[in-house]
Amino acid sequence: MNFDTFDRDHLWHPYTSTINPLPTYKVRSAHGCRITLEDGTELIEGMSSWWCAVHGYNHPVLNEAIRRQLDSMAHVMFGGLTHEPAIELGKLLLDIVPPSMSHIFYADSGSVAVEVAMKMAVQYQVASGHPDRTNFVTIRTGYHGDTWNAMSVCDPVTGMHSLFGPALPVRHFAPSPHSRFDGSWDPHDIDPLREIIGKHGKDIAALILEPIVQGAGGMRFYHPQYLREAAALCREHGLLLIFDEIATGFGRTGKLFAWEHAGVEPDIMCVGKAITGGYMTFSAVLANDIVADTISSHDPRVFMHGPTFMGNPLACSVAIASTRLLLESGWQEKVRRIEAQLREELEPARHLPSVADVRVLGAIGVLEMTRPVDMAWIQKRFVEEGIWLRPFGRLVYTMPPFIIKPEELSALTSGMLKIVGEIPE
Ligand code: PMP
Repeated sequence: MNFDTFDRDHLWHPYTSTINPLPTYKVRSAHGCRITLEDGTELIEGMSSWWCAVHGYNHPVLNEAIRRQLDSMAHVMFGGLTHEPAIELGKLLLDIVPPSMSHIFYADSGSVAVEVAMKMAVQYQVASGHPDRTNFVTIRTGYHGDTWNAMSVCDPVTGMHSLFGPALPVRHFAPSPHSRFDGSWDPHDIDPLREIIGKHGKDIAALILEPIVQGAGGMRFYHPQYLREAAALCREHGLLLIFDEIATGFGRTGKLFAWEHAGVEPDIMCVGKAITGGYMTFSAVLANDIVADTISSHDPRVFMHGPTFMGNPLACSVAIASTRLLLESGWQEKVRRIEAQLREELEPARHLPSVADVRVLGAIGVLEMTRPVDMAWIQKRFVEEGIWLRPFGRLVYTMPPFIIKPEELSALTSGMLKIVGEIPE
């Protein structure tokens, strides 16, 4: 067997063909903000491994947390057993999430967290005497994961709805708000959601939203007033409000969690990705007393979910270490610095013929192109420039580790401008 071609011939990568796959770049190691390829090429990391590696790679504190935990146990089942890492992480999380959050369900990944949150919402509605409230409402250009129910609330056009057709539950979609985060609020922005909830509210268990920043569905930043108005509609019509903070959580948007931009607390909240600093797959679903106690007061008086690797001790210990490190590392100042630098250095891209919009929030910088990029070409050009970015569709964007040095960030932004500048209108 030829090991040089094994990956191409046998391994499925995300959203990739087996017949004509895009090239992959083999990584030898990663330290701090640098990814080293097999041939010695060093790349500056601009993606934080899809929002996760906020402290960079191979961090001694996180490595040590896993090593220490390994000496006592890698895993025990969470059914009937508990352990210190799960308890300690729970305490830490409750200190930083919205004050009304009081119960924590540990899950395996972001998508599973979304499944869990949606099940919680339906079970809550059944328990409160509304068994017909089984559907969900959301906004377009959202992304919530690739499992069945998560997929059903992703954007119906850029998501996978057309492919899976009638196999997917049909959800209600309001247009995504056009009032930008940094612009003025258009009071009509909430009208379509009000109309849907007014008409179909009695069938709907919950509204699910990525607060403020829509990630993989469009990298859009919308106005905090939308969340306030949406929350009021939910309360008025008996819908639960679910915030998916899987991408926005742990400082990325300039607040520790994005709900803080609006001061609106959800009933259920999903966190994941950066929770372990990018070390392991792990997530948590948080719920308030009303949700948890209502579910637990009605038959079958339990919440019906229990993953095998629930509360995995290795994941919990690295999550504790990562969250503490974040809180103690002056994350806010770091994110503020990254934001200011991204604003200044990406601004000139506005004048490039291929660029339709430039937007920055927290440690997220986005160039929206006029047309979808040629992935194989642009990926290769970025690697030649010594930077790691993974655009999709019309979006070329960066969300670097918070530890990135100013000169490394400049290399990323100047590489973005240079390569995007090579694209004709
Ligand atoms: N929700 C959001 C907002 C996400 O960005 C993602 C991952 N990109 C998910 C859910 C799914 O997480 P995972 O890939 O860990 O299943």
